[in-house]
Amino acid sequence: MRSVRTVVELRELLRPERSAGRRIGLVPTMGYFHDGHLSLMRRARSDCDVVVVSLFVNPAQFAAGEDLDAYPRDERRDAELAEAEGVDILFAPAVEEVYPDGFATAVTVGGLTETLEGDAAQRGAEHFRGVTTVFNMAEPDVAYFGQKDAQQALVIRRLVRDLDIPVQIEVCPTIRDSDGLALSSRNAYLSPEERERALALSRALRAAEAAVASGTREAAAVVAAARDELDRAGVEPDYLQLRSVTDLSPVERVNGSTLLAVAARVGRARLIDNAILGGDQ
Ligand code: AMP
Repeated sequence: MRSVRTVVELRELLRPERSAGRRIGLVPTMGYFHDGHLSLMRRARSDCDVVVVSLFVNPAQFAAGEDLDAYPRDERRDAELAEAEGVDILFAPAVEEVYPDGFATAVTVGGLTETLEGDAAQRGAEHFRGVTTVFNMAEPDVAYFGQKDAQQALVIRRLVRDLDIPVQIEVCPTIRDSDGLALSSRNAYLSPEERERALALSRALRAAEAAVASGTREAAAVVAAARDELDRAGVEPDYLQLRSVTDLSPVERVNGSTLLAVAARVGRARLIDNAILGGDQ
């Protein structure tokens, strides 16, 4: 595995691969790898000839009051894990490499980047500016994302479609611990007691799924079933909303696939999770 820090080095390594017609897969990450990240690398490894993993703790992706410097990092361990998955190139740029002096371009995806995580009270639309910038640097044939960040996946899909960017987007299932907690680098912040409370998020999603499975369709009633689980654990959500899976517009009823998205702070960790209700996940 090669480790590089600049876009120039990355492109130099990829040029002969590209001209030989090899299929290049990219897995963009913020590091501190867990099985969710590794599942994306495995998928890329089985689909592609060359696998690039980017590791960039993006300042744009932090919520108000979330501490960028406290984000867990262990680049050496990450490199070992990536190598063990057969990753070819680890691209770990510095902040100045991604956002050099004078960087001024922003990509907004109408209707998708201003809501949920993009709402000013949450992480803000700049959050997606970061995502959309980094993923373009490797010019991959395929890029892999997790369903865990459902909104991010939608934003990227729409961006690629609207700008005719020649990249295939693959969205892979959310990987969970055996007790249901979605894996996240931010879980490292949780004390044992907080981790127990954090389980309310996945339980809330399961409760909503059960409500839909038993015939409930009205959004308010489905959300109330989920909300009960959060209340029981004393978890106050930043949002808990049923949205269209295609454009994130609010829905009144679950008719076909509908996204239930939740975000909440538990201790120092800001956690997100989601489920697709009323259709295939
Ligand atoms: P992050 O390092 O948190 O920015 O995540 C990097 C990529 O891994 C994103 O595409 C995430 O959606 C994906 N990811 C994070 N957690 C999980 C998970 N538990 N299961 C599947 N994919 C995940």
